[in-house]
Amino acid sequence: MAPRAAPAARLDTPVKFLKGIGERRAEALERLGIRTARDLLWHLPHRYIDASTVTPLAQAHLGQEVACVGRVMAKGVLPTRRGLRIFHAVLRDDSGVLECVWPGQPFLDRSILIGQTLLVSGPVRFYHGRQMVPREFVILGDADTDADPLPAGKVLPVYPATEGLSHKVIRSLIDRHLERLISLSHDGLPDPLRLSLDLLQLPEALRAVHRPASAAEAERGRRRLAFDELFDLQLMLIRARSVAKRHRSGVAFTLKRQLTTRLKQHLPWNLTGDQQQALREITADMTAPDRMHRLLMGDVGTGKTVVALFAMLLAVENDFQAALMAPTELLAEQHGTTLETLLAPLDIRPELLLGRQTGAAKAAVKQRIAAGQARVVVGTHALLQESVAFHRLGLVVIDEQHRFGVEQRAALIGKGPAPDVLLLTATPIPRSLALTLYGDLDVSTLRQRPPGRGMVRTAVRGTGQRDRVMDFVREECGQGKQAYIVLPVIEESERADLRAAETMAQTLTARWPELPVGLVHGRLKGEERDRVMRRFRSGEVRVLVATTVIEVGIDVPDATIMVIEHPERFGLAQLHQLRGRIGRGTEESYCILLAESGAPQRLNGFAATQDGFKIAELDLAERGMGDLIGARQSGGFEVRHARLPADADLLAKARDLAMKVIEADPALQRRENQQLRERAVARYPRAVELFRVG
Ligand code: ADP
Ligand code: MG
Repeated sequence: MAPRAAPAARLDTPVKFLKGIGERRAEALERLGIRTARDLLWHLPHRYIDASTVTPLAQAHLGQEVACVGRVMAKGVLPTRRGLRIFHAVLRDDSGVLECVWPGQPFLDRSILIGQTLLVSGPVRFYHGRQMVPREFVILGDADTDADPLPAGKVLPVYPATEGLSHKVIRSLIDRHLERLISLSHDGLPDPLRLSLDLLQLPEALRAVHRPASAAEAERGRRRLAFDELFDLQLMLIRARSVAKRHRSGVAFTLKRQLTTRLKQHLPWNLTGDQQQALREITADMTAPDRMHRLLMGDVGTGKTVVALFAMLLAVENDFQAALMAPTELLAEQHGTTLETLLAPLDIRPELLLGRQTGAAKAAVKQRIAAGQARVVVGTHALLQESVAFHRLGLVVIDEQHRFGVEQRAALIGKGPAPDVLLLTATPIPRSLALTLYGDLDVSTLRQRPPGRGMVRTAVRGTGQRDRVMDFVREECGQGKQAYIVLPVIEESERADLRAAETMAQTLTARWPELPVGLVHGRLKGEERDRVMRRFRSGEVRVLVATTVIEVGIDVPDATIMVIEHPERFGLAQLHQLRGRIGRGTEESYCILLAESGAPQRLNGFAATQDGFKIAELDLAERGMGDLIGARQSGGFEVRHARLPADADLLAKARDLAMKVIEADPALQRRENQQLRERAVARYPRAVELFRVG
């Protein structure tokens, strides 16, 4: 249906031109990533509440995780003996009252007001009575609104909100514009196909997610959006694969057993069985005339680097160059140092190319790369510059491959006539998912951990034991160890979370004068973050308070302790990634989860295993249960609507359909596919290069 030509009746109209939104609100909306009318339409609820998911305050029992809605009757800031300031509020509903406390967040006193209706969710604990420590809160209504925000039988959508723009305002803005914006949305899916998949039309789906009459209706809407998203993702992946395969014939290297054999002789340890198996697979690929396109998947610490090095030497002993690209300067430097040590006995010096080198140094490295003197090259994105030309590039290795865009990977690969490609990832995913997401990439996996590394012991401790845990940290750090203290930061409460991290760093600095404390979080500039990380790696900083931004591959052997605050707020896979930062030396390491009493069973399951693949299965199963966090990341692509494995059926159908479409029209250049191309490109910036016309 063609929209009426009304002023501002376009989805790409900046939001500030919509009724009810001026410059100031537009600025606040921008913080939520909402710039256009389309963004507003696609600002979807991140959860729904109704009478079946909300617990009456009187029935919030000890040890449970619950969501409650109530009106603020009393509130204030209380000091504690330990100098921590606690904001507390008493909520009331028809059933009774419940006290909520936010330790270390006295500033909430300014935003939470008497008479407001709050949605709170979190664990209920015992402290002079029942108490909730909310993980999340949403202000549903102000004191002046009388209406019950949650009348019986109604489903209330809850939107992500931000400072200066309450949930209530966002909901009313969406209410005001929803129907008109929906009428501007087109359904790209042909009816017969849509019906065969039992999916709603797009406008119906959008209405269903924003204003569902029931939880089931919201779910039906979500499924439709999930399908579109998975379909776009598959279009892009399948296209990427066909582009990568296009000039599939490559170099057939010869296993000369010169450099590779010498490396083996000089290694201070034996390769693990998994490493040997991966090497056999890689060698078979590289000595075959087809180009290698292989993914090496293995937990942090399983020894992917040395496997990659063997592959690089196989190329080098055939008089080709090999390049290793890492996503950050820190990781590239670390690889440089590792390779330098391992290659020293072979008289090969790896060349390092980093963004922060001086112009003269870079020019010199580029010159050696162009002349072919540089045989093993390690670098960051700096390798992608046009001015970097290889003499004879035979192998490309990309570490943490999902942190590069498809076109970035392609840019490096394009620097050789037909180099073999080895991609590395420290994010193990279940086999079923890998097959779908990585399709016909060949996959090698490292499950075993090299012997001789210290064990990582994981323990779940109650917050009541915090002092004892912290004493332990102090003692260990006093004896030369280093520690990470990790705090969660989630979108919904980012400001408060960052404050908590800052407060923690300040408190520890004051309490432990003998131990230099550092702080890193996502709001720091990259350089500043690198600077603190370098100081931690050099041992100058002994205790690092961090949000989840600690570099994945970072190798600090003396860091043997990690304390994780609010572990219940992390996904299991994420906890596992965090834990991978310790246990890198030969000493035993300790990962301590400081959880509220009545810690969920899932944390014990996590503590019991160190196998990343097992945890990936647990994590996927858990997130598939309709958890509000959802499956945010799949193989490094953001997935907002789809939930796996629950949507595995949609994924399979999306994949089939995408294959058919790409087979018939590889670059989506036909008229009838134009919309598909536009949507995929809009959703996944990485698709821009892949579907460039011409
Ligand atoms: P990943 O990149 O997979 O996280 P690394 O390649 O950084 O792991 O290896 C982790 C550590 O294990 C490194 O210090 C490396 O030298 C060491 N290592 C690798 N393979 C073995 C092995 N077979 N035996 C003993 N130590 C090993
Ligand atoms: Mg690594």
